[in-house]
Amino acid sequence: MKENALKLKNLITNPKQVVITTHRGPDGDAMGSSLAMFHFLKKLGHNVTVITPNKYADFLHWIPGNSEVIIYEENEEKAQQITSKADLLFLLDFNHIGRISDLGNYITSSKAQKVLIDHHQNPDTSMANIIFSDTKACSTAQLVYDIMNAMELESYIDKNIAECLYVGIMTDTGSFKFSSTTSKTHKIISKLIDAGADNAKIHDLVYDCSSSNRIKLLGYCLDKKLLLYPENNSAIISLNAEELEKFKFKNGDTEGFINYALGIKGIKFATFIAEKEGIVKLSLRSKGNFKVNEIASKYFNGGGHTNASGGTSQLSVNETIKKVEEIINNYKEKIK
Ligand code: 5GP
Ligand code: MN
Repeated sequence: MKENALKLKNLITNPKQVVITTHRGPDGDAMGSSLAMFHFLKKLGHNVTVITPNKYADFLHWIPGNSEVIIYEENEEKAQQITSKADLLFLLDFNHIGRISDLGNYITSSKAQKVLIDHHQNPDTSMANIIFSDTKACSTAQLVYDIMNAMELESYIDKNIAECLYVGIMTDTGSFKFSSTTSKTHKIISKLIDAGADNAKIHDLVYDCSSSNRIKLLGYCLDKKLLLYPENNSAIISLNAEELEKFKFKNGDTEGFINYALGIKGIKFATFIAEKEGIVKLSLRSKGNFKVNEIASKYFNGGGHTNASGGTSQLSVNETIKKVEEIINNYKEKIK
């Protein structure tokens, strides 16, 4: 860490054209870590742009700097232009160039210096010149804090940066409850609050600002769409395109639904399946040792963390349910 931090510190001593990008379907950690880095580098005098592959949930739009984010899918030409002029690229919260869709082609062909900051397993180290990878870190936002600290530039962390880092750590730790949350995480959080992060406000903006449609969709999922396999400690929730349409689905609306299935006593493996923009997307979660990232990469062209992963299916929603049921059956000895 220290050595790489010094290399990075050297790279950012004189003003540069910087682009920060993160994974498709950006979550709280993706946006929090990216916008924290955005504010930090701007303070150091750089010209910085955050480019996301696609749009992200409304409940992240309050994050400072949101209005300056360029969404590649909505503004390809501008995103390409800016990326081609960049001399420093930051790749945040993803381990494989495939996670940023077409934008990846421009990143790969760019001659800029590239810095990867990520906490996923098996990062593709050919993506970048400087690599900060820590699979034990609870979030990329925590790693970004560590890097600022290792560069001895922690004093630059103001209210905006602190709030960005706070939301990244908070969302990726499920509000500080996952086992990835350590005493170090809490120490960092305490420093972020001291630097001005309004913790109660952030929890409210992220978790208590749902549309009524979202809450109704949640009720529908739990009442009508929850499949339980208690003998195999598993659960599945699924939604097809018509159902999402009926509840006027907006990006991010189904975030966290899977945790209700995992919140049922005895359930150790939960799958959420949703047909979004013509793609059948899966979220997999587990408690304990069952490695859902292995399931995601073996069966659903995806990946992620031991207890939280995702992927896609080429089958219909109903056929995907059947496939997950087969997986539950085949792995029942491990889902304990
Ligand atoms: P979510 O279920 O919240 O969409 O994703 C949980 C985690 O799974 C993400 O943090 C990411 O690590 C991983 N993940 C989700 N979707 C994909 C995917 O399509 N491919 C890969 N490689 N990882 C994914
Ligand atoms: Mn993350």
